[in-house]
Amino acid sequence: MREMNDFVPFHKVSVSEREVSLAVEAIKSGWWTSGPNVKRFEEEFAELVGTKHAVAVNSWTGAAHLTLEALGLQAGDEVIVPAITFTATAEIVCYFDAKPVVVDVDAETGLIDIEAMERSITPKTKGIIPVHYGGQVCDMDSINVLAKKHNLFVLEDAAHAIPSYYKGNIVGNLSDVTCFSFYATKPLACGEGGMITTDRDDIAERCSIMRLHGMNRDAWKRYTAEGKWYYEVIAPGYKYNLTDIHAALGLAQLERLYELHIKRKDIAAQYNRAFSGNEYFQIPKILSDSDTSWHLYWILLNQEKLTITRAEFIDELTKHGVGSSVHFIPLYLHPYYRDTFQLSEREFPNANSFYSREISLPIFPDMSKEQVSKVTKTVMQICQEFAK
Ligand SMILES: *Cc1c(COP(=O)(O)O)cnc(C)c1O
Repeated sequence: MREMNDFVPFHKVSVSEREVSLAVEAIKSGWWTSGPNVKRFEEEFAELVGTKHAVAVNSWTGAAHLTLEALGLQAGDEVIVPAITFTATAEIVCYFDAKPVVVDVDAETGLIDIEAMERSITPKTKGIIPVHYGGQVCDMDSINVLAKKHNLFVLEDAAHAIPSYYKGNIVGNLSDVTCFSFYATKPLACGEGGMITTDRDDIAERCSIMRLHGMNRDAWKRYTAEGKWYYEVIAPGYKYNLTDIHAALGLAQLERLYELHIKRKDIAAQYNRAFSGNEYFQIPKILSDSDTSWHLYWILLNQEKLTITRAEFIDELTKHGVGSSVHFIPLYLHPYYRDTFQLSEREFPNANSFYSREISLPIFPDMSKEQVSKVTKTVMQICQEFAK
């Protein structure tokens, strides 16, 4: 039971022999940049989510940047984003000198508030970027209806949502275009990586050209026997392609997707059992329309029942050897967004409440039963020690 005394990290990537062997194979093959592994990763990913296209890139940020470029976003346009998200969701809009219009979220789920979203639509609004917070899926039916009514694009931020389901359908094919992240802490990880999934030929074609300098041919085609040396640059593109070594890790994680997902679900179930009915905090509110990837397991403190703040609660967790995190510091609290777009926390009562109460607990596939029970015991012990 040595583990009982060890620090439980907030996250640890699950590495099996499969990741190791595919990565070693990729290294030994000598093909280190985008090549056959990237192509296979795209094909298998498109098949998983049921889209015509999947375009692999080196991050969610790159994926979403290319997507907005393909959609023709212009300076002065407005794009709606939720207050509770990572900066990347809004920064990609700023790349175009367009305006991220920050809207409030649901106070219990952290998902974008549909009514607040509708109220924020102006003649300048071009699109919506819903974020599937923690792996739970936004109300996509309402979002798609609103988008159609006002002629807006929908770009889903599915950085947390693999695999997540909405009314039984896997995220990736619920709207115009979806962007995924394979950053090291995400449910399917490559270290750094991302994917654009869409049925639209125009978006897929533009993104695949722009991810590699705006050249109209992939490098691997140029240098293989059947390829040609000739290419044409049709626009000043970007350098966002994924390497074959990273794609190898992605392929291994894709094979293990359901194995890893079941483990996360199992940990969430253990947490739910241990925490159900307690008066000190709320466990994740699960929507009936959505089936979460369990990227995050978040609790919302009932501050009127505790004598310590959220920050002090996190200090106590750390002191007792439990890692944790906060998702996210709302956009309007960051100096850049606050000052540039004159945002004040008074406009976001729900996001403010969510943020001030939220703690993300460790939920990674290789967590042992002992580690899970160390977390549950520590959390309950802190609650009892600091009960009002
Ligand atoms: C991680 C994350 C991103 C950015 O992903 P990268 O692959 O690191 O660019 C975007 N949105 C959300 C909600 C995230 O959590």
